[in-house]
Amino acid sequence: MDPLFEQGVALITGAGSGIGQQISRYFALRGCKKVFLVDLSTKGLEETRNIINSESPATHVTLQQTDVSNNESVKEMVRKCVEVYGRIDFAANNAGIATPNIKTADMEVKMFDRTCNVNMKGIHLCHKYEIEQMLQQEPLPVYNDYRAVRGSIVDTASMCGRAVLGTLPAYNSSKHAVISLMRVDARQYAKDGIRINAVCPGFVDTPMMRSDFLSEEHIKGAKAQSPMNRFVDSTEVAKGVMFLSGSAATAVTGTDLMVDAGAMTFH
Ligand code: NAD
Repeated sequence: MDPLFEQGVALITGAGSGIGQQISRYFALRGCKKVFLVDLSTKGLEETRNIINSESPATHVTLQQTDVSNNESVKEMVRKCVEVYGRIDFAANNAGIATPNIKTADMEVKMFDRTCNVNMKGIHLCHKYEIEQMLQQEPLPVYNDYRAVRGSIVDTASMCGRAVLGTLPAYNSSKHAVISLMRVDARQYAKDGIRINAVCPGFVDTPMMRSDFLSEEHIKGAKAQSPMNRFVDSTEVAKGVMFLSGSAATAVTGTDLMVDAGAMTFH
C-alpha cells in the first residue's frame, strides 16, 4: 500500500491487455481507490475490470474506450475522468502498437504513420490534456514525509527507445520520441509539481510480442539477449511504474527506468 495512491486517481491507457492490465491491477493492489481504465478494446477493459473487482473490491473502476492517437478522443478521455473522479493524480500512458521487422524501403508509409500516431502523437496528446488538468488541481494533501505533488505521469517507452533493435524503423523512432517528449515535458512542468518519467521494458511476453512484433526466431533470440536468460514479466514493469508514480520517487523526474532483465547491457 502506498498512502499517496490511497488518496489519488489513476488513469491508465492500454489497460485492456499485457503491461497496461498489470499496471491497472497494481494501482488497485497498492491502494488506489479510483482507477480510470482506457483502451481501444472494450473486451480487454472488461477483463481488467473483472480482475480488479475480484482482487481489490474497494477500488472503483471506470472504463473508457479511447483512441490515444485521436485528439478529440483523448480530450474526451480526460474530460470524462475529471467528470467521474474530479481529478487525475497518476497517469500511466502505456498504449502502444508494434510493427513487424521491415526495412525502411519496404515499409508502407501508412504503417509508419499509424505507428507514430499511436506511439508518439498518442503520448503528446495524453501529456497535453493530462497536464492541462493537473495544472488546475490542488496537490494531494501533504502528510508524514510525503512531498506535495500535483501529479505524476509515467509513459511506457521501450528499450527500443534507447537503442536500435531488430529492423523497426517506425517502432524504434517512435519509442525514442517517447523518451524525448517525456524529458522535454518533465523539464517544463517540474516547477509546477508535475513529475514525468518513462519506463523502458525489455522483452515482455504479452499479446503484442506474440503477434507481429517479432518472428518465432526473434523471440528465441530475444530471451537470450537477457543476461538473466529470461523475459521480463509484465508485473515487473508494473512495479517499475508503481515506483515512479509513488511516494518513493517524489524527487524523480525526467528519468527513463530500464526494466529489461539486463538486455541493454549488450548495447
Ligand atoms: P499489448 O498489445 O498486450 O497491449 C497494448 C494495449 O494497447 C492493447 O490493449 C491495445 O488495445 C491498446 N491500444 C493499442 N492501440 C491503442 C490506441 N490507439 N488507443 C488506445 N489503446 C490502444 O502490448 P504490451 O506488450 O502490453 O505493450 C504495452 C506497451 O509496452 C506498449 O507501449 C509497448 O510498445 C510497450 N512495450 C512492450 C514490450 C513487449 O515486449 N511486450 C517491450 C517494450 C515496450
